[in-house]
Amino acid sequence: MTTTLKAKPRVSYDCSKCPAYCCSIYERVEVKPRDMRRLARHFGLTVEEAAQRFTKRYGTERILRRQTDPLLGRVCRFLDLTTRGCTIYEARPEVCRDYPGRPRCSYYDVLQFERETQGEPDVMPLVQITFRSRTPAG
Ligand code: SF4
Ligand code: SF4
Repeated sequence: MTTTLKAKPRVSYDCSKCPAYCCSIYERVEVKPRDMRRLARHFGLTVEEAAQRFTKRYGTERILRRQTDPLLGRVCRFLDLTTRGCTIYEARPEVCRDYPGRPRCSYYDVLQFERETQGEPDVMPLVQITFRSRTPAG
């Protein structure tokens, strides 16, 4: 019997060289019931305790709380502001595990583009996305 090892898909981004745009740009990181149970287990809390401490309601969704970040303004409360890494990597929600869902990360591409264009290997463009409705209000 032979075992086929599934090759890890090659990706064109390096999160270790990025200030974690994806943990900042998206105001809502959804926490589904399964994510909530994983998070609670990780901290040795009940689901209710973890929900209360780490998440808040956004309409019908439950989302991760955020914190102030001197670099990017507001970021996920689980981002380490110094290392720029996720402090709950093994217990992070599904949506974080899946991101960016393709071999390229647009934010990393922007970062690389600016670093090459500016000739500054450490430059960090401030990237912000604002979502607006296509239909004018009123
Ligand atoms: S924005 Fe892209 S490169 Fe940066 S941490 Fe997120 S997935 Fe990684
Ligand atoms: S849980 Fe981790 S990976 Fe997900 S947004 Fe927060 S810091 Fe980023």
